[in-house]
Amino acid sequence: MSGEKAKAIALLSGGLDSALAAALTKRLGFGVVGVNFSTGFCTGQGRCDTVLAAGKGLGIPVRLLDVSDEYLEVVKHPRFGYGSGMNPCLDCRIFMLRRAKALMEKEGAEFVVTGEVLGQRPMSQHYRALKLVAEESGLGDRLVRPLSGRLLPPTYPEKRGWVRREDWLDIQGRSRRRQLSLARQWGVDWFSQPAGGCCILLEKAYAARLRDAFAHLGPDRMKKEDFALLRLGRHFRLSPKVKLVVGRDETENAMLSGFAPGRIRLDFPDVPGPTALLEGEVSQDELLLAARIAARYADSPPGEETRLIALMGGKPTELRVKPLSPDDPRLRELRVG
Ligand code: SF4
Repeated sequence: MSGEKAKAIALLSGGLDSALAAALTKRLGFGVVGVNFSTGFCTGQGRCDTVLAAGKGLGIPVRLLDVSDEYLEVVKHPRFGYGSGMNPCLDCRIFMLRRAKALMEKEGAEFVVTGEVLGQRPMSQHYRALKLVAEESGLGDRLVRPLSGRLLPPTYPEKRGWVRREDWLDIQGRSRRRQLSLARQWGVDWFSQPAGGCCILLEKAYAARLRDAFAHLGPDRMKKEDFALLRLGRHFRLSPKVKLVVGRDETENAMLSGFAPGRIRLDFPDVPGPTALLEGEVSQDELLLAARIAARYADSPPGEETRLIALMGGKPTELRVKPLSPDDPRLRELRVG
């Protein structure tokens, strides 16, 4: 093989497949630069650490790129629609690969590798989707999927004679058996186990909240912080224009305080209770209902009046309400996600 000097960009997600694809590319003698894109919707603690550990294990440099501002547009207006949640997988792949292409050109690399496996994911990894993503990203035959390479049309490194067809693998489908066996064989142990997906847009509760926000606020009016707030607390839709968010624990209460500017904040001065935020054009009736819902989660004696302070534009207003009973159907009917 004469490809020792060619360089590849490898997308590293922190998972096993992308680590193996990068490892195989390196084993075939190519120079590899890893890249990870932070979209703002990633799940999993220490993901960047895992990616950096993968880079260290492979002995390759890794670029960590924050694309969260531009990525919002992908989530708001995907050309190819959403998957089972609000995950715009095809648009997401195209977006990331366009970024990887720009990096390839900047770094003087010749091709891009990913850990995609034919038939592993219903939306983005069937044959036609892999082809579409290669075309739409502008990478064409410079996009290489080493784990399924033998099953896919020849790519640039193969056409140039840098690799033989049989150098790639022929993995397909959802089973992880072959990948785990290769990981053991190659000593690849710096990856996180897949646990329900890498992205919060797949999660049922988050997807329901996002759909609700798109329906009532509209995607184009949503700012980055609105997407972040959807990750916290219990959400209640009180009317088309009014939503309540109630913290679930101390950490969330503290985090919710950071979202208070521009919203009405409800606090419990006399008993331990959640921080709650109200957003929208709030009527007096809605304010009282919100206070009763929030009070349901405070440590106030059942059936007794509780005192709350509503901070509106920095101006405190005192409210006294009876908490909603835990059986009150409105708690279920108004809940989002
Ligand atoms: S699951 Fe999320 S991060 Fe993964 S391809 Fe789909 S949208 Fe992108």
